[in-house]
Amino acid sequence: YCGFVAIVGRPNVGKSTLLNKLLGQKVSITSRKPQTTRHRILGIDTQGAYQTIFVDTPGLHIEEKRAINRLMNRAATSSLGDVEMVVFVVDGTHWTDDDEMVLNKLRHMHCPVVLAVNKVDVIKDKEILLPHLQMLAQKGNFAEILPISAEKGTNVEKIREMAKRLL
Ligand code: GDP
Ligand code: MG
Repeated sequence: YCGFVAIVGRPNVGKSTLLNKLLGQKVSITSRKPQTTRHRILGIDTQGAYQTIFVDTPGLHIEEKRAINRLMNRAATSSLGDVEMVVFVVDGTHWTDDDEMVLNKLRHMHCPVVLAVNKVDVIKDKEILLPHLQMLAQKGNFAEILPISAEKGTNVEKIREMAKRLL
């Protein structure tokens, strides 16, 4: 059993950190600097007869004036071609126009889209998290909304389990 899972989102939300956490090793470069991931990075998670191929993608941008942005958008969009699941990563502390743009790209997807609301470890006041998650739930038709911390590993196992369940 083998399936593809695309990890998408705007720059700097923690996509590469999530891939590394899912795999337990540093396969993708992470950085505070946006645009660190410039190509698709594949990571294979093998659990017995099940293999999930996680595809880390460059961040999607609205701004396409620079050639590098256009190339990165193309690399990210093309990896949405034939996947079993999409993990849409956002920063739990704020929602931006770039997030909205990514969401609009995902509206045509036929596979489940899991919204991973990342960096919840920095949200000190957990009471603001619930209304924020409720606001995000209104935005699209998500298979699941998971508050996660890619850095600390919170709920990362749930993403792996969801991917496996689809196979
Ligand atoms: P990408 O551009 O979406 O691939 O983002 P990266 O994985 O490169 O991460 C961007 C920045 O966010 C880096 O400085 C990471 O250390 C940081 N980061 C990623 N995940 C988390 C998280 O769960 N919590 C916190 N506090 N920081 C995170
Ligand atoms: Mg990256």
